[in-house]
Amino acid sequence: MEIEILSLFPEYFRGPFDVSMLRRARDAGFLEIRHTDIRDFAESKHGRVDDRPFGGGPGMVLQPGPVVRAIRSVRKERSRVIYLSPQGALLTAAKCQELSLSEHLILLCGHYEGIDERAIEMEVDEEISIGDYVLTSGCAPAIVLIDAMARFIPGVIGHPDAVSEDSFQEGIFDSPHYTRPENFEGKEVPSVLLGGNHAEIRKWRKAQAIEKTRRVRPDLFLGEHCEPLYVH
Ligand code: SAM
Repeated sequence: MEIEILSLFPEYFRGPFDVSMLRRARDAGFLEIRHTDIRDFAESKHGRVDDRPFGGGPGMVLQPGPVVRAIRSVRKERSRVIYLSPQGALLTAAKCQELSLSEHLILLCGHYEGIDERAIEMEVDEEISIGDYVLTSGCAPAIVLIDAMARFIPGVIGHPDAVSEDSFQEGIFDSPHYTRPENFEGKEVPSVLLGGNHAEIRKWRKAQAIEKTRRVRPDLFLGEHCEPLYVH
């Protein structure tokens, strides 16, 4: 998959894509991430890409010209243009899975008060939010989206079961995990996990996952009989 990140601060992304799984995914050719500086498409010689909002109000707005030109400079026939925005649909595991099938993603990061609405209307396919709060820019949301989506690209995570057993895949959380030592500061690993009875272990894990999901995220359940709401 090819990903183009359009932002005012390409240097923001130094680090997150250069370590661990995302680094390996890039080195193995599963993921190619490129950066475009929206400022390179400024109208003025001084690289100015923002201006005051028409109608008044605080802050500055990214002008449509530089944004539209930046998108068009990387757009391909099968591109999907996503604007990271608090006003978008909430990012979910199901959405990440769907995005992982894309060939070419263009991720547009907003800054300041946001982007001139006309640029969004003209070039953006969908707006995605990473949560009901406002960040200073779309850079962190772009990293979150790429990280969460890359896990669904076959081969990126070594063991395919690791993804299918993750939280939300069956509409509930993952079960709790334990490793050595068996006794840590007086707290024992649940005995069922040490017994080697795999049917019992599966049953226990599912019960734990259901109990915690119901307690912490009752909204994931349809009702009393713990039917998961988001079934894939
Ligand atoms: N005035 C805008 C509003 O209230 O909808 C917020 C602008 S925010 C300060 C600047 C940029 O950060 C946005 O254009 C967007 O790209 C990004 N951003 C902020 N919060 C976000 C969120 N929850 N999810 C995705 N992107 C977000």
